[in-house]
Amino acid sequence: MFDFIIIGAGFAGSVLAERLATQRQKRVLVIDKRRHIGGNCFDCFDQHGVLIHQYGPHLFHTDNKAVFDYLGQFTEWRQYQHHVLAFIDGQEVPAPFNLNAIDQLFPPALAEALTAKLINAYGYGKKVPILELRQQNDEQLKFLADYIYNKLFVNYTAKQWGCKPEDISPEVTGRVPVHISRDNRYFQDRYQAVPKYGYTKIFENLLNHPNINLLLNTDFKSVMDFNTDTGALSLFGAPFEGQLIYTGLIDELFNYRFGELPYRSLKFDFEHLNTEYFQATTTVNYPNDYDYTRITEFKYISGQSTLPGTTIVKEYPQDYDRNDREKDIPYYPIFTDANAQNYAKYQEFAKQFQHITLVGRLAENRYYDMDDMVARALEVFQEKF
Ligand code: FAD
Ligand code: UDP
Repeated sequence: MFDFIIIGAGFAGSVLAERLATQRQKRVLVIDKRRHIGGNCFDCFDQHGVLIHQYGPHLFHTDNKAVFDYLGQFTEWRQYQHHVLAFIDGQEVPAPFNLNAIDQLFPPALAEALTAKLINAYGYGKKVPILELRQQNDEQLKFLADYIYNKLFVNYTAKQWGCKPEDISPEVTGRVPVHISRDNRYFQDRYQAVPKYGYTKIFENLLNHPNINLLLNTDFKSVMDFNTDTGALSLFGAPFEGQLIYTGLIDELFNYRFGELPYRSLKFDFEHLNTEYFQATTTVNYPNDYDYTRITEFKYISGQSTLPGTTIVKEYPQDYDRNDREKDIPYYPIFTDANAQNYAKYQEFAKQFQHITLVGRLAENRYYDMDDMVARALEVFQEKF
């Protein structure tokens, strides 16, 4: 009955379903264990009418015009430039850390000297990962690098990942480099916007096709069998001869045969407040204070400025535990060398199954943003199907 079964209705699964249905006329079954589509990008209105992001704040930004145009077929966009402040020593300074943060935190003469040294060493407009800045030999830049490292990165990373910045792939802290600039935006990408009617609407439009069937609230293991020796698949007890696209955890698919891979989870604490706005901008990071990493206020993202109240979310990082319902969402793979090696064992093993395609943040163990994920799904479609 189906040519393809896709596990997961996030961006990886939904983009591939759309492409296969509309460009190849394939019949597709999309299975997701959640009650809704959209994966971690799912948004909905809370009881006060605020458009919230159930699984953490999602801000779309890309330099990839093809991705922006592709998604533009499924949504109108509302221009939105993301701003983040970091709460350091009682002050809210721009994040990523930049020249304006220097002016706010240091006496004028020192700020001027540090700014001149940074521009001289790297050039105005450059972005320098903190771990790279820390290799500086110049005394004043060394002082600055240590300051940023200690005040912005060490404790935030300890909360978020449970380790030191240097114990995790440099790609992670490199996402938020020191920006030698006075541009206070969180991202500098050419296309920054939020979907005018929310992310979930994009997914409804992606999946709205007669060739696409949805089976929600269903763990694939409860309806499918996968024989990891022969590769044979079955659906509801009948052999399935088509192709499988899997966007979930790779270790789960292969029954943990090379051990469990580690993931990081989060607890989201939503609060509705009877005040027009709670904080000065969308997100405030708390590297050193409190147990949460950041607070996000959704009205800034949705543009619902006329609502009388406001909804915020606090993010508490926690260990992942697949047997604990409070901790069983693997939001992030943990990016260390040891884990990459264990992942590679699964990846190697998976190669023998030509009828199974692994794509997605979890299946590929990659720190994909939404635009990366859409680009990757489009690439897999072009190359394989
Ligand atoms: P997912 O969205 O996780 O979808 C996978 C789906 O597979 C899920 O719905 C899951 O239920 C389903 N599934 C898994 N296992 C099974 C199973 N056994 N049976 C059935 N279904 C299963 N990106 C940005 O560009 N900007 C941001 O601001 C941003 N913020 C983020 C904030 C947080 C807290 C997180 C965690 C991520 C953020 N991202 C952001 C990244 C973005 O969420 C991902 O790029 C995107 O969700 C990846 O899509 P995916 O399809 O791989 O995964
Ligand atoms: N980070 C930090 N302090 C900050 C912001 C980020 O130490 O104020 C580090 C931290 O390790 C974090 C990583 O940079 O996990 C990436 O941050 P980003 O905001 O991109 O994380 P995400 O939105 O993906 O959770």
